[in-house]
Amino acid sequence: MASEFLKTPIEYLKGVGPERGKLLREELNISTLDDLLSFYPYRYIDRSRFFKVRDIHFDMAYVQLKGRISNIKMHGHRRTTRMTAVFSDDSGQIELVWFRGFKWLKDAFKPNFDYIIFGKPTRFGRKINIAHPDIEKFEQGKITQDSKMKPLYSSSEKLKSKGLESKGINKLIKTLIEDPRLKINETLSQELLDKLKLLSRHDALINIHFPKSHELLNKAQIRLKFEEFFFIQLNLLKLKQLRVEKVQGVVFEKVGLFFNRFYHDVLNFELTKAQKRVTREIRHDTKSGKQMNRLLQGDVGSGKTVVALMSMLMAVDNGFQACLMAPTEILAQQHYSNISIALNKIGLKTALLTGSTKSSERKEILEALLSGELPVLIGTHALIEDKVKFKNLGFVVIDEQHRFGVAQRAKLWYKNDISPHVLVMTATPIPRTLAMTVYGDLDVSVIDELPPGIKPVKTIHQYDSNRLKVFGFIKEQIKKGRQIYIVYPIIEESEKLDLKDLKDGYESIARAFPLPEYAVSIVHGQMKATEKNYEMGRFVKRETQIMVSTTVIEVGVDVPNASVMIIENAERFGLSQLHQLRGRVGRGADQSFCILMTGYKLTNEAKQRIKSMVESNDGFKIAETDLKLRGPGDIEGTKQSGILDMKIADIIKDEKILKVAREYAIRIIQEDPMLNKKMNYPIKEKYNQMYLNKKFWSRIS
Ligand code: ADP
Ligand code: MG
Repeated sequence: MASEFLKTPIEYLKGVGPERGKLLREELNISTLDDLLSFYPYRYIDRSRFFKVRDIHFDMAYVQLKGRISNIKMHGHRRTTRMTAVFSDDSGQIELVWFRGFKWLKDAFKPNFDYIIFGKPTRFGRKINIAHPDIEKFEQGKITQDSKMKPLYSSSEKLKSKGLESKGINKLIKTLIEDPRLKINETLSQELLDKLKLLSRHDALINIHFPKSHELLNKAQIRLKFEEFFFIQLNLLKLKQLRVEKVQGVVFEKVGLFFNRFYHDVLNFELTKAQKRVTREIRHDTKSGKQMNRLLQGDVGSGKTVVALMSMLMAVDNGFQACLMAPTEILAQQHYSNISIALNKIGLKTALLTGSTKSSERKEILEALLSGELPVLIGTHALIEDKVKFKNLGFVVIDEQHRFGVAQRAKLWYKNDISPHVLVMTATPIPRTLAMTVYGDLDVSVIDELPPGIKPVKTIHQYDSNRLKVFGFIKEQIKKGRQIYIVYPIIEESEKLDLKDLKDGYESIARAFPLPEYAVSIVHGQMKATEKNYEMGRFVKRETQIMVSTTVIEVGVDVPNASVMIIENAERFGLSQLHQLRGRVGRGADQSFCILMTGYKLTNEAKQRIKSMVESNDGFKIAETDLKLRGPGDIEGTKQSGILDMKIADIIKDEKILKVAREYAIRIIQEDPMLNKKMNYPIKEKYNQMYLNKKFWSRIS
């Protein structure tokens, strides 16, 4: 546990005071000494290495040189004043430049002494210079802290103006570390430290700020990353444990009439092995008496919906209600129309509840839910509203695009005295590390097999200049009786512009594919739901051959006859979105195509995205690439969950440490569920402290 001393407000540290204290709080979220101690450098510079002037390029990050300083001169006047000096070693010379602080600098350098300078080379016209270098007199044999690894801390303009640039922050940390009142308590058990050969917390913190060697820095980083992952995992596992212990689950005693009728009379295909396995896993959970919280992962088209539907029928067979929540209105409608047709055949009523449900209808639905008359409800976020009350909700399916946080999921549990079982389905696969961190409190099922007979979609990259060729291809496909999607990007900030792109695109398509031979549909987010439905309906009924749209058709939409997906400005889409869009075709028996249209100018990252799409159809592989390219912070939904605001660990780079941390967290929870063993006392202390610390807890739940 943080000692009392570490809880001291930052203002009281020597060298801080009210003004800087306020800034540290506002700019860096540092409000106590403890926060300062765990404000880690973002990078280190190796100061044991000296460069020669002749080897300097302007694109080097930092260089350290040893040599003499001469020819100090002032240039310009008033605002444009600068001071320069010549720095030379035995390989050449380079200009140093300052824009302030002249008075002090002018007399600081003696001509016959060696100096160590340190700074970033920048291009200045045709020359290279170093602005505002750190300068130190060279003294033979003196090994200073600075002559090894120099830590760099992030700062801000405001902080810099108050002397708290990286160096200033480091100085504060030095003050703190040298304070005799400082006590750094261990947070891991001795057993863990021994087994994993981890540095103590004390040594790790000292070395993260003032590394004594490369090796110790490395060990310090490993220790602190492990700790960060470990407590996040412990927390998630504790959540799960609490749920299993405290949260009773409704019991589905039998598999009954509705399930069997659906399985034997309605389902017109054989389930894949993976679908059967997952159905068994769910069956097992739902009769256990514990609440199920399961994540169902599977690639686009792997057939998650039918598994969800059969699970919902298990609920109905046992006298419970079931609901399915989708991320968009269109998807909710699609689910509704498919599911209601299927359930009608076995004599079950289904209703759809979304933001645009008419109030009279809504009233009816709400009454039928409360009386228990309505067994199955499909909808959007509208289902979470407090007004929506069930008689006895037993099973909840969340078909999400990682958009719901743990808190929102929890809201659904509380819709019943006894919590319903929850099945979360992802729209596209999530990389394992991300799943472990964001969904670490859930059990995971994977459908790792596509239904038989599915031909992989062929993906092709085309430049905009080849548009005519693409139009020719579209015509060929339409002649074969196929249908085409053409999708335009939509980015919230410039919705108007995008809409213009879409409309221009629509017009040129309509010109190239004129009536009466062709008919073109258009759907975008600004249309009313009824209009959208009408247009979608025309496409589904094959009255139109081409569907021009924004990404509103991204999720779920299922038109097996559509065999070509053309994505305009493909470089503007994220990888998982591209994969999701591609999944809209390839559902029928015909060979399908995905054509990615781009301009010639592509960023490196965009090139990699396109390449990865052309090379692979495997959603799990694509998800991994996506995570590597974008970093965890940008993956949809993870921002809201906040769980990835980590101080030092990185779920991509530190995947190995994450795995070990999870493994040990699981082991400890199994061996000592309440953390009551004496050896786990430090872990318990830290866990409890985190629990009390709202700032952390709110990130998790
Ligand atoms: P997703 O996992 O992407 O949500 P869906 O559940 O929408 O996939 O299923 C995609 C399509 O495959 C649907 O038309 C569905 O009826 C069909 N399907 C699902 N399972 C099978 C199967 N075992 N055999 C044949 N077709 C299947
Ligand atoms: Mg789906």
